Amino acid sequence: MEQEMTEIIYAGIVDNSTIDYPGKVAAVVYLCGCPYRCPWCQNRDLLTMNSPNCRKTDTREIIKELRENYLIEAVCVTGGEPLMQEETLDLLKEIKKETRLLLKIDSNCYYPRKLREALPYLDYFTTDIKAPLDQRYGKIAGLPDRWKKIVSRVRESHRILRDWDNPKEARTTIIPGLLEKKKEVRETAEIVKKVGFTEYTIQQFRPENTLDPEYEKKQSPPRELLQELAREAKKKLPNTRVQIVTLEEGFEEIK
Ligand code: SF4
Repeated sequence: MEQEMTEIIYAGIVDNSTIDYPGKVAAVVYLCGCPYRCPWCQNRDLLTMNSPNCRKTDTREIIKELRENYLIEAVCVTGGEPLMQEETLDLLKEIKKETRLLLKIDSNCYYPRKLREALPYLDYFTTDIKAPLDQRYGKIAGLPDRWKKIVSRVRESHRILRDWDNPKEARTTIIPGLLEKKKEVRETAEIVKKVGFTEYTIQQFRPENTLDPEYEKKQSPPRELLQELAREAKKKLPNTRVQIVTLEEGFEEIK
């Protein structure tokens, strides 16, 4: 029997990336739509379904492209927010059924129900912890009035992730004027510990193509600041791999 068609809104596939799945060459599938409006977001062209870069495609087309790519061992489904579309679950199931690829998603934890349904298909999970879980989260996500709803959904997702034993990574972006202090990183590191993330990455804000053009005038935080903040996080996370990622040097583990 022929498989039913599922349509999904996506912006395309990058064929082989070496930075999107730890230790593996991976294809990256960019899905459209995101419930947040982080002013510093660099994926502004993926935030709405009707963006000129987004189009509907049959998920079977994506599977075909992945199957024909002999260079990859893994696939990363990202966005925007990949769990915003209901059809993403079908895509994940199909990838697992139709290919032998390792599967990871990058999600912002806003959809706990869909996260619970997606986890059985995943080999790896990455999320961002944008800020400590209070008003600051809403501000950094660009939706200050909705911070309570966001925080409650993120907390629920974290409860689900606590019981999931595959490798899981959390990331925090250091953004001038929004999140750059040791105290804030100590608070995010507490969350990393509580949820049991196996990796914690502190990454550098980049002032390019940002949703709010004001952020293009800001400077990238220096590598030394990221190292200092990561050392602070490491004190709380002796059993977690802590790393920074900068434009200058790429990934560096902090011990
Ligand atoms: S940075 Fe924020 S707005 Fe941009 S894709 Fe991620 S969660 Fe969405």
